[in-house]
Amino acid sequence: MQGTILILDGAATNGIMLKVQLSSAYYHVVQSDRLEGVQALARRARPDLIVSAMSLPDGNVTMLKAMLAGDPALAAIPVIALAAQNDHGARLRALGAGIDDVLSHPVDDLLLQARIRSLMRARSSAAELGLPEAPSGALGTGPEFAEAQARFLPVARIALLTQSATAAALWRARLRPHLPHHRLGTYPLRDAHRVMADPIPDAVIVELTGAAQDAGLRLLADLRARAATRQIAIIAVVGNGDAGLAADALDRGAHDVMPAGFCAEELALRLRTQLQHKASTDRLLDSLRDGLRAAVRDPMTGLHNRRYALPRLDEIARNARRDQSGFALMLADLDHFKQINDRHGHPAGDAVLVETARRLEQCLGPDDLIARMGGEEFMIVLPDADQARASAMAAQLCERINGSPFLVKGIARPISLTISIGAVLCGPDRDRAAHGSAAALIDQADRALYLAKNGGRNRISLLEPAA
Ligand code: GH3
Ligand code: MG
Ligand code: MG
Repeated sequence: MQGTILILDGAATNGIMLKVQLSSAYYHVVQSDRLEGVQALARRARPDLIVSAMSLPDGNVTMLKAMLAGDPALAAIPVIALAAQNDHGARLRALGAGIDDVLSHPVDDLLLQARIRSLMRARSSAAELGLPEAPSGALGTGPEFAEAQARFLPVARIALLTQSATAAALWRARLRPHLPHHRLGTYPLRDAHRVMADPIPDAVIVELTGAAQDAGLRLLADLRARAATRQIAIIAVVGNGDAGLAADALDRGAHDVMPAGFCAEELALRLRTQLQHKASTDRLLDSLRDGLRAAVRDPMTGLHNRRYALPRLDEIARNARRDQSGFALMLADLDHFKQINDRHGHPAGDAVLVETARRLEQCLGPDDLIARMGGEEFMIVLPDADQARASAMAAQLCERINGSPFLVKGIARPISLTISIGAVLCGPDRDRAAHGSAAALIDQADRALYLAKNGGRNRISLLEPAA
């Protein structure tokens, strides 16, 4: 079963025909012929999508949308409205209320199926990421709401891709009054790669008419395939009523289509809905990224943590084995750090740790790894290093700590500190035991650190791998 669709239609024959169509496409279908009771039904059935007649015996699709928007459990469900006739004004009102699409009878089966697939796809990608779904469409209607929303949406960069410069100029001039806040850029379709050269736009409007069809369709697939452009909202403008092409565009990755050609007012409404979807998806992706970043960082020093460092060390060891190259692993531990806390207080100890992290990190190159392993112990890995580089780096790290005292806010006298380093050099010889697992390597570095501490601290102990 590919998902659940709720059909809402007062005319029994329409409902039955739709149910047959959708069931044969393996959707699970639930039905109602009126608005009353739909909220309870939707809460039970949890539909992925609602297909509703524009007008119902006891209301209309705008009332349905308002009911859904007021219920957090249902607000994200996309809605397709089916109109008895092609009434442009009614379509604009429905789109303005946040309905995802309005199709008029007789409904082209191919187009309806493609529309359903595209809306389902958007929902399932949010679900795959484990994200709560983005609410679908506008929450209110009317000019005040539209104005408030335009203010709330960040200024978007919109790229218009057309066949001719004339179309580009016309589109831009007609769209401008409807999208006064957004940046509109124009690009010739045959030169679409220029879109990628500029800052990535938030939305792309692609002309799919006449000779441009094939190039346009290829571009849609291309934009959705690349990581850098995958999040762009794409709307395809299709020549007069070509339902087959509109369906094709949706299947190739367009989020929405204008099946009856360019109309600035309608395009602006559809764009607003798409930009809202994109803004909430972007927010969710940002918080997911922040969460992932936080999971591998030590919040106090900003260095990577042990959870990140151990698999990275394994990876560096594997690469070294593959390339027959050497690398160095060091454990660096501040000497008598407990006394800092005891003498100056825990906050001063924290400040010292942050400054230590900064100093150590400054010595390292972009390919080197540093992580806070816990307390006042840091791990440093130098990929592709020989004994000379490892010794020189260890000496430099010690010098960065003991060479100048730490100035801590609120502590009158500068604090002098030293660090001890235990290092293991992992030679290019693949049979050496030192090319072992991260845990085994760290054990060896720990032994070296113990020797440095026992030898009087403020020193380096470098172990060559055992044969
Ligand atoms: P040694 O030279 O043998 O390494 O002595 P040491 O005092 O540095 O080592 P010890 O292991 O005895 O003490 C480490 C101290 O580090 C104890 C602990 O309270 C402190 N510590 C661990 N994490 C933090 C932290 O995040 N902030 C502060 N301020 N102190 C910490
Ligand atoms: Mg210590
Ligand atoms: Mg320690």
